[in-house]
Amino acid sequence: MIQSTELRRIDLFGVPVTALESYRYAEDRIVERIKSHIKTFCVAVNPEKIYRSQRDNELMRLINSADFHLCDGIGALVAAHLLSNQKIGRVTGVQLFLNLMARAEKEGLKVFLLGAKPEVNEGAFLKLKQKHPRLQIVGRQDGYFKDDSEVVRIINKSGADMLFVAMGSPCQEKWINRHRSQINAPYCMGVGGTFDVVSGFVKWAPKIFRATGTEWFYRLCTEPKRFKRQLVLPKFALMVLFAKLTGRRRKIQAHVQ
Ligand code: UDP
Repeated sequence: MIQSTELRRIDLFGVPVTALESYRYAEDRIVERIKSHIKTFCVAVNPEKIYRSQRDNELMRLINSADFHLCDGIGALVAAHLLSNQKIGRVTGVQLFLNLMARAEKEGLKVFLLGAKPEVNEGAFLKLKQKHPRLQIVGRQDGYFKDDSEVVRIINKSGADMLFVAMGSPCQEKWINRHRSQINAPYCMGVGGTFDVVSGFVKWAPKIFRATGTEWFYRLCTEPKRFKRQLVLPKFALMVLFAKLTGRRRKIQAHVQ
């Protein structure tokens, strides 16, 4: 049985990042835990979440209580390298989701898709079924609902093993955290705009941007309304630079746990 404590973690400003060697390694750990019925909450860590959690205690607490912390953003990877001299692999939420769909099909694991607009949720469902005909998508629900307990009931009734929540960050993580104890699915993960990409409503950043970790730049160019949100990125860069130059500990710190 694999416990998350066996995984190396790096602390970035109080936010843990799990050093996952590769996608395959991450998928294997996740599937093992699902099959062993170990409840697993997976959070994708990026500069935005690290920066916001410095001011949002609920977010900081819930990220720390999660089991897997993907190094989703290139900024987190660079910060880990600069501040603790640790090399960690980048595992993005979108790519891990896509890989997990293939694994779920192969291993017979049941999937629930929660979130996004109704047409996007349906589009993602249809595209996934087209690509993975034997994939068991046992339930889905758009992200614009009022009755949380009814949605939790539907998820549990579906018998899903994996719940993917695409309602934007940090709402999706807070939603999972609020209902985690009542949700039976062993694996829960927030996937942001993944359903928009999978359904084809939003174009995935071309390979060159993904390979260089500059998806944020692509998104900024294609969705300029995200500009305000992305102002966090230079602020995060300054935070890292300040920590590097001053070596200040506590809050502004990075060490291997
Ligand atoms: N969304 C949702 N319910 C809401 C607000 C947003 O389901 O109440 C969905 C929205 O339709 C979109 C996703 O959440 O599909 C947010 O995507 P975004 O790319 O902004 O995610 P982030 O960058 O925050 O991870």
